Amino acid sequence: ATEVRLAARPKGWPTLDDFSIVDTEVPSPGPGRLLVRNLLISVDPYMRGRMSDAESYIAPYELGEAMQGGAVGEVIESTVDDFRPGDVVQHGLGWRTHAVLEPQHARKIDPDVAPLGAYLGVLGMPGLTAYAGLLEVAQFKAGDTVFVSGAAGAVGSVVGQLAKLKGAKRVIGSAGSDAKVAHLTGELGFDAAFNYKNGPVADQLAAAAPDGIDVYFDNVGGDHLEAAIGNANQHARFAVCGMISAYNATEPPVAPRNLTRIIGWRITIRGFLVYDQYHLRDKFVADVAPMIADGRLRYEETVVDGIRNAPQAFLDLLGGANTGKMIIRL
Ligand code: NDP
Repeated sequence: ATEVRLAARPKGWPTLDDFSIVDTEVPSPGPGRLLVRNLLISVDPYMRGRMSDAESYIAPYELGEAMQGGAVGEVIESTVDDFRPGDVVQHGLGWRTHAVLEPQHARKIDPDVAPLGAYLGVLGMPGLTAYAGLLEVAQFKAGDTVFVSGAAGAVGSVVGQLAKLKGAKRVIGSAGSDAKVAHLTGELGFDAAFNYKNGPVADQLAAAAPDGIDVYFDNVGGDHLEAAIGNANQHARFAVCGMISAYNATEPPVAPRNLTRIIGWRITIRGFLVYDQYHLRDKFVADVAPMIADGRLRYEETVVDGIRNAPQAFLDLLGGANTGKMIIRL
C-alpha cells in the first residue's frame, strides 16, 4: 500500500516537498470494518486550505499523517454484513491506495448508473456544489444572465450548463486559456466566454455582458468579484463558492474596490458550503443524472495515473492544467 502524507505546511504556492509518499503494509480491517482498494481519488482546491493550520470551517490535515479526500474504491475484505468484496463504495479516505473504513463512512455506488469518475465530479460533491449554489444560494430563475468564473473546471462547467438548461437568457464564463474558452462556447454551449489572462476582467466581462449580469457564481474572487460587482444589474445575486485566486496568495487581495455599489444596486452576496447542502443530494441526482445520461449535460475529466503522481496533479489543478474534474486513477 502507498499513502501521501502532509510533510510541511506550505507558505504561498505548495511544492512537492510539502508531501511525502510512503509505502506501508496493506492494513487489516479488523472487526466491524472494511478494507477498500481505491480505484480513483480526487484532488480538489479546498485541500489547499486543509494543508494550512489557519482557522477554517474544516480541520487541517495533520503533519506527518496521510491526507484525506474523496475516493471511489472496491471492497476487498469485509467483516460487516452489509458490504461484500466486490462492492464499489465512495468515501473520504483518498490520497492512499488502501483504506480501512467503518461502514457508516462508506456509501455503496452503482457502477452501472454512471462511470465511477462521475461520482467524484459531475454527480458528486462538485456537481452538488454547482446545483445548490446556482439554484438555492443564487436563487437562479429563467431569464437571468449568469456569469461564472472558473467556468471550465469541475464546478463551473456544471453551473454554466445547468443555467442554460434551466432557461438562462445568457451564460458567460471565464477561464485561463484560449482552449478552455473555445470548449466553453463550443461543446458546453456557453453564449460567451473570455480568457481572464488576455486583459482586464472588468472590460472583458462588460463586452460579454452588454446588458449586465443577474447572477454571479464566484469560484475565483479578487478582480473577478470586482468585475462582477461592476457589471451587476439591480438586485443581482452572487453565490460565493470559492476564491481560488487567493488560496496561494501571501498578501490579501486588493480587489474588490467597488463594494459601495452593493448598496445602490441592492446586490446580495452569499457565501456557502456544500456541506450544508447534502439534503438536496437526492433531488440533485434525480434532476441531473438524466441530463448526463442523454448528453444534455456534458462533463470532462483530466485523469492522471498513479498515487505517486497525486501531489503533482494537485499542484497542476491549482495551476489550471485541468479541464473539468481532476482525478487520479490508481
Ligand atoms: P476546478 O476544477 O475549477 O479547478 C481549479 C481551477 O481554478 C483551475 O483549473 C484553474 O483554471 C482555476 N484557477 C486557478 N488559479 C486561478 C486564478 N488565480 N484565477 C482564476 N482561476 C484560477 O476546481 P473545482 O471545480 O473543484 O472548484 C472550483 C471552486 O469552487 C474553487 O474555488 C473551490 O474552492 C470551490 N469549491 C467550493 C465549495 C464550497 O462548498 N463552497 C465546494 C467545492 C468547490 P483556469 O485555467 O481557468 O485558471
